[in-house]
Amino acid sequence: MSTKINKEWHEKNKMTKNPTMEQRMAWHIEHAKNCSCRKIEGKIAEEMRKREISVSLFSFNNTNNPSPLNPFVGI
Ligand SMILES: [Zn+2]
Repeated sequence: MSTKINKEWHEKNKMTKNPTMEQRMAWHIEHAKNCSCRKIEGKIAEEMRKREISVSLFSFNNTNNPSPLNPFVGI
């Protein structure tokens, strides 16, 4: 896949000024689903690894599996 910016998504999903790590991870997970202009890397990738979150495993729709891996529930 070529690098493609989903401008529409970016317009609707602007990062807040001082995002928490949770907000950043949530943003990047959503971002990875909708756009491929940048990778998850650096501190965020590290933090996600620590929490055993992987974008491919992560699913907001998986209600059959109330996973403790999902730190974004309730935000
Ligand atoms: Zn993007």
